[in-house]
Amino acid sequence: MKTNENNSILSSGSSSFVRKYLTGIFLIICLILLSIFWGFSYKASSLIKNQLHQQGVAFFQEVVLTREWAANHGGVYVKLGSDVKINPYLLKIPGLKVVITDREGECYTLKNPALITREISELAVRKGLFKFKITSLKPLNPDNSPDQFERKALTRFDHGLKEWSTYEDQGNEVLYRYMAPLVTYKSCLKCHSAQGYREGDIRGGISVTINATDMINQLHENNLFLLISAIGIVALIFAIIRFISQAFIKELKLAEQKLIEMASRDFLTGLLNRREMYNRLASEVSRAGRNDKPLSVIMIDIDFFKKLNDTYGHSMGDTVLKELSCKLQETLRKYDIICRYGGEEFLVVAPDATSDEARNLAERIRSIAQKIVIPYGSNATPVSISISAGVSQYIEGEDVEKTISRADAALYRAKGAGRNRVEVA
Ligand code: GH3
Ligand code: MG
Ligand code: MG
Repeated sequence: MKTNENNSILSSGSSSFVRKYLTGIFLIICLILLSIFWGFSYKASSLIKNQLHQQGVAFFQEVVLTREWAANHGGVYVKLGSDVKINPYLLKIPGLKVVITDREGECYTLKNPALITREISELAVRKGLFKFKITSLKPLNPDNSPDQFERKALTRFDHGLKEWSTYEDQGNEVLYRYMAPLVTYKSCLKCHSAQGYREGDIRGGISVTINATDMINQLHENNLFLLISAIGIVALIFAIIRFISQAFIKELKLAEQKLIEMASRDFLTGLLNRREMYNRLASEVSRAGRNDKPLSVIMIDIDFFKKLNDTYGHSMGDTVLKELSCKLQETLRKYDIICRYGGEEFLVVAPDATSDEARNLAERIRSIAQKIVIPYGSNATPVSISISAGVSQYIEGEDVEKTISRADAALYRAKGAGRNRVEVA
């Protein structure tokens, strides 16, 4: 009862400790794993974003070179035709030969750098490639006016920023937009001096737009794969730790129970020890009080045990103690409690027994003890013993120590009256 309570308290205490400990380890492993997976995801994301940025920079530089080449040559003259029209904005620039005619009378119109880049951009869009645009806060051609992103970037360039990029989610596609400033060279002033620009001024910028949908989708797929892997590994670790903890807790409980059992039993006889008997006696006393039932104790002592030890040796004494313990366990009722009280002393707690009933039980024990015969040597007389016993009934409200000492006093009387007898307190 009490011991069982102790057992469960001890077991649940240590198993919850093991659970807490392993949960702690599990959480640490999860944290490390999640950090690793987050690191992988971050690395993959920055690789892809870096790649998009590199593409943006490369396209930008290519456009700058094309534009610079065209500006250095004062633009390019293209034969006028149904798909080649005069740029009306160039007509506003004084001194600029917008249309020229060759000896055969063929007409050519000037394609300025901005127009060249715009037309190449339109071609790139038609081919499903990237898109770029030369834009300025003060454009000559209103078609080159900046959109929201470009306006934001151009304003920042005015404050010294060297480049600007962003992602635009258009619902069905994701665009990567990169923009860097366009510096005014001498060749640019030919057309743009009227706008008040000087050499070295930031005249506008080139924005590059790349369709990043495939790359972003790949990134999402990669993140999903990492997430599923992380969940899978965490689940696997959880299962392993759970399996280990359950096996460990089972072993621990068994070891604890064994330990508790060992701590509550006498090593030689296997009977309960005095400490455990007191635990059980306390609950028996309260039960007797609750149910208004009697309770008696019997103090048993082997007669002349010292002499037996001296005559036959200590190991024979041990054999006698073990044999008597066996007989006591066989004789007593299931709910009687028997313990080895001291050297050759035993205490029986008999619940529901009056002192008379306990005396009968003690008499039975005495007669059984008398019948114990242990062979000694081949020709020698077998060893036999007798016991004396003192009985006392628990009195309501009395300290159990007092009940036991009254039984002890009765035992003392039995010894004084010649031994091998039972006395009642
Ligand atoms: P009495 O009839 O008055 O009880 O005399 P007694 O000799 O039995 O009592 P006493 O107290 O003089 O001696 C008890 C002896 O029990 C002394 C001790 O050596 C012996 N003893 C105590 N524990 C053990 C044990 O575990 N094994 C053995 N073999 N002897 C033990
Ligand atoms: Mg004794
Ligand atoms: Mg004795």
